[in-house]
Amino acid sequence: MELEVKHLSVTFPSDRGPVKVLRDVTISFPAGKITAVVGESGSGKSILGAGIMGFLPSETEISGEILYKGQDLRSLSEEEMNRIRGREISWIAQDPVTAMDPLWKVGKQVTEALRFFKRENREDIEKKGLFRLSSFGLPDGERIVRSYPHELSGGMAQRVMGAMMTMDDPAFLIADEPTKGLDAFVRHQVADMFCQLRDQGAGIFLITHDLRLARRISDYTAVMYAGELLEMGRTYDIFSRPRHPYTRGLLAAQPDRGLHPMKGKPPDLTDLDDGCIFSARCPFYDANRCGKAISMGRTGADYFVKCVRREEEP
Ligand code: SF4
Repeated sequence: MELEVKHLSVTFPSDRGPVKVLRDVTISFPAGKITAVVGESGSGKSILGAGIMGFLPSETEISGEILYKGQDLRSLSEEEMNRIRGREISWIAQDPVTAMDPLWKVGKQVTEALRFFKRENREDIEKKGLFRLSSFGLPDGERIVRSYPHELSGGMAQRVMGAMMTMDDPAFLIADEPTKGLDAFVRHQVADMFCQLRDQGAGIFLITHDLRLARRISDYTAVMYAGELLEMGRTYDIFSRPRHPYTRGLLAAQPDRGLHPMKGKPPDLTDLDDGCIFSARCPFYDANRCGKAISMGRTGADYFVKCVRREEEP
């Protein structure tokens, strides 16, 4: 079983005209694997996650399919989606404090999913809540559960959100920058928790700008840029032999690879032409080959690249 996105495009209205924030994105998230989606801010990673969850504003123009258990999630009613959210597909939001109810104590919110579906007795639910909080680096769970969201620091709220969204052992988890703002020790704990959930069979879609985290825990990595998917494959292959010029630039800008910043900036999403989305920044741009629509092509088992040079040596 997997979660599959096919040809997903998302456009927001704006004063300057339609903003094409996602274009023709096709990607699979297999069960029992961690798939990291990486890229600079504004690449569309979070929009992809929010699109799967059905969290995009009503004025958004959307096309394409989001397939889960043989059904297109886009065709479901809000009530049907609510049965899937949290129970089957969970979402760890990037802004945890606003995602929590300010009037409810943390303990009630963490255990709500299990209480709602009444699958376990109260004592077991509370024990599981404390266990999950400690798995997310909050060993003083007894105190945390008695707190209100505004009493938590940003890092604590992030971890509470992680505990809350994994309480019901969802089949799929979409985590939007789950380690943002956490110190190295807690980051490791949270990463281990994701590995544990993966080993129990959950499929995880990890949205992150933290390439070290992606490299450490993910099975597959997909690279996004300005609303398009440019490269995806097994994580080891992406990091050891990236083929797309953007991926190579992204990796070269990392501290452990010499901190070489990429020149230029992403395109204006209200004014796009048909050519390669990375053309303005690409050192290999060739008007004859790159000025027309580029499709994603396979270069090996589980490896896809959107570049005319995909078969050429990097
Ligand atoms: S298609 Fe052309 S411009 Fe785009 S990344 Fe490849 S070489 Fe560069």
